[in-house]
This record gives sequence, C-alpha cells and structure tokens, in this order.
Amino acid sequence: MALVLDTWKAARSMFKGLGVTIREFFSPPVTVQYPDQQPRISPLFRGHPVLLSDEAGKLKCTACMACARACPVGAISIESARGEDRKMYPKAWNLNMGRCLQCNLCVEACPFAALGMGTRFETAVDSPDGLIYDLETLAELGRTQPYSRIMVGQKLTPAEAAQGSGADAAQPGGEKGAEVS
Ligand code: SF4
Ligand code: SF4
Repeated sequence: MALVLDTWKAARSMFKGLGVTIREFFSPPVTVQYPDQQPRISPLFRGHPVLLSDEAGKLKCTACMACARACPVGAISIESARGEDRKMYPKAWNLNMGRCLQCNLCVEACPFAALGMGTRFETAVDSPDGLIYDLETLAELGRTQPYSRIMVGQKLTPAEAAQGSGADAAQPGGEKGAEVS
C-alpha cells in the first residue's frame, strides 16, 4: 500500500512540474535579444547620478557640496567658483563611477533638485579612467537621457512602475524628464 501511495505522489509531482514547464513554454518570453533589442527600463532603476539643467539649459547645481557630503563613499568631487553675478557654480563636478553605489543619497540630499538618477546602464569600460564622469558628460546625460528622482519613503503606483522608461518610452531629462518624485 505504501508503494502505491509513493508512486502516486511521485507521478503527481512529475505531472505538476511538467504542467509548469508546458505553461511557461507557451508564455510570451520575458527576455529580450540584447543588444539587438533594448530592454525596457523601470522608472525605479537607479543608474548613476546625472546633472540636471533648467529650461534655459543652465545647470541647476549651485556647488553647495551637500551631495558630496552625503555620499557615503566619496564618489563625488566638486570644485566651486563664483560667477560675475556673485553666484556660486560648479567649475568641476566629477563622479567616480568606480566607487558609486547607486544609492540615490546624493539625489535626496540635493536642495536644488539639481541631480537625478539616470537610467543608463551600459557603463562598461576597459580602463578605470573611463569611470570618471566629468561635469560636461553628466550635464549632457541629464539633458538627453531619462532619469528619475525618487525620494526616501516614496512609493510608485503599479502603473508608474510598469510604465518603464526604456528606449521607446524615453523621456529625455529637462522640463518633464522621467521625474517621479
Ligand atoms: S548614488 Fe550614492 S554612492 Fe553614488 S554618488 Fe550618489 S551618494 Fe555617492
Ligand atoms: S547638492 Fe545639488 S546643488 Fe549642491 S553641489 Fe550637489 S548637485 Fe550641486
């Protein structure tokens, strides 16, 4: 009797597993043929910080250093200067991507909404020097790439999370961007 029961349990388990396999076999694939196809990137994705500009294309950054102080790994280095209008501006703003944890703390710390987390993910380089992003690079990425600004404790609706911000749904940074803060 025990043998019959064990055989029945094994057969049931096998057919259950086969059922899952067959169901998944006929389901639409969730993978894409990268790099021929670009994946859809969730608005929750945090690539690396980018510098944001206002409608006139002027950087919002005032070189206040709050982001550099908030960064737990010292990935941000800023050189400030004073303009002819006596206002501070970043003469240099460097991000060491080799150190960056993509933690979003600098975005949260910025009092001028001058930073966003870009959704760019293809950051492989063949030399450590290529991991240093300067002001011009980060400003250009902030103007042309999708980015997000998500504050601590903020929750996205399922629709917002499912919306994606991949190549076909990309909203370049700037007036609207992919801002979800
Ligand atoms: S994302 Fe985190 S680790 Fe990267 S620069 Fe900002 S604060 Fe530093
Ligand atoms: S916190 Fe914002 S305004 Fe201040 S230096 Fe960093 S990016 Fe610029």
